[in-house]
Amino acid sequence: MKKSADILILHASELVTLDGYSDKPAVKSDMRNLGIIRDGAVAIENGRIIDVGKSSSLAEKYSAETVINADKKIVLPGFIDAHTHLLFLGSREEELTYKLEGMSYLEILQRGGGILKTVRETRSASIQELVKAGIERLDNMLVHGVTTVEGKSGYGLDVENEIKMLEAYKILNEKHVVDVIPTLLAAHAIPPEYKDNPDEYVDLIIDEIIPKVAERKLARFNDVFVEKGVFTIEHGRRILLRGKEYGLVPKIHADEINYLGGAELAGEVGAISADHLARASDKGLKILADKGVIGVLLPTAPMVLMDYSYPNARKMINMGVPIAIASDFNPNCWVENIQVPMFMATYFLKMTPAEVITAVTINAAHAIGLSHEVGSISVGKKADIVILDVPSHYWINYKFGTNLVDTVIKNGKIVVEKGKLKNREIRS
Ligand SMILES: [Zn+2]
Repeated sequence: MKKSADILILHASELVTLDGYSDKPAVKSDMRNLGIIRDGAVAIENGRIIDVGKSSSLAEKYSAETVINADKKIVLPGFIDAHTHLLFLGSREEELTYKLEGMSYLEILQRGGGILKTVRETRSASIQELVKAGIERLDNMLVHGVTTVEGKSGYGLDVENEIKMLEAYKILNEKHVVDVIPTLLAAHAIPPEYKDNPDEYVDLIIDEIIPKVAERKLARFNDVFVEKGVFTIEHGRRILLRGKEYGLVPKIHADEINYLGGAELAGEVGAISADHLARASDKGLKILADKGVIGVLLPTAPMVLMDYSYPNARKMINMGVPIAIASDFNPNCWVENIQVPMFMATYFLKMTPAEVITAVTINAAHAIGLSHEVGSISVGKKADIVILDVPSHYWINYKFGTNLVDTVIKNGKIVVEKGKLKNREIRS
């Protein structure tokens, strides 16, 4: 008598499990050790993975209503985008031309552009408008294989609007099948009202925003943009330690444009991730490796800044820093397709296809504290699975520029089929 399953995936030319890294992220040469099963199979029931193995074995054990033949395709854990600024209103397309004409970030700001333009437009938006924008973006991310997204606030920059953004994330998470993990980033920029006294804005974050966000359980993480002319290391330390008192796990935008010691601070405050790291010191990187802090690298960021200073991923991997890759989706970097930062990680950060896969699955799951739920094809985990229309994982980043996704399964349901969204399944 065969056991029943909801979905049985059979005959994957490669089943990329990434099993075995749920307790600790993959580092060094393990980032290339994907736990591949050839002619692999997965059984899914009630939204969970119930069995993983060879097709011959699972085909004997299970009968399923839906059988997917993944012949000549590869099956992987759903991709996880661990660093996005998903919600905002408005756009900044004209700034691309300004940048090409040589205008600096500061000059664009003085023209009323840059992040402060997005803050103005997001402050005047309703929660419903933000949710609607978020649904469209999540649809597009999902069709490119992303099943979990971290999303930051940071375009409200006051009590009311930071909370509004996080409320929008909460509704978005309920409405859309993609899981959205919210991060408070009140310390994203100095709001115009506080431009002459940033310390007072830091006090507002510490005294009001963090306690209110924590009380309403609107965020899991607390992030700070530590950068020259934005927030200092001391600001970052105060904000992140205060968040910890309220149960918010620290994250840092660290050493992106200038070296300030962000990686060192990540180690000091016990951050779960340190993101960007293009200018991190060797000492800082050693601390990340020793403490297992995930280095979330964002290869699109130096590209859109047009300074082309990419983080040294090879050095970081050699040192044992666990690496994740994310999109940094934001109004200055409108990339909804995670396969773009993935191929950039190969061609600009010199990461192998196998390392990149690890960096957008299990290591990305660690960066958002979900490694026991998602990020690998392991028995008991959520059935978040992507099937790519290529015969081996060596084709990832070798074939690029078109969407490689054939099928996406989210919470045990087929939500993308032959590269197209199944609309009824993705919204509630
Ligand atoms: Zn960011």
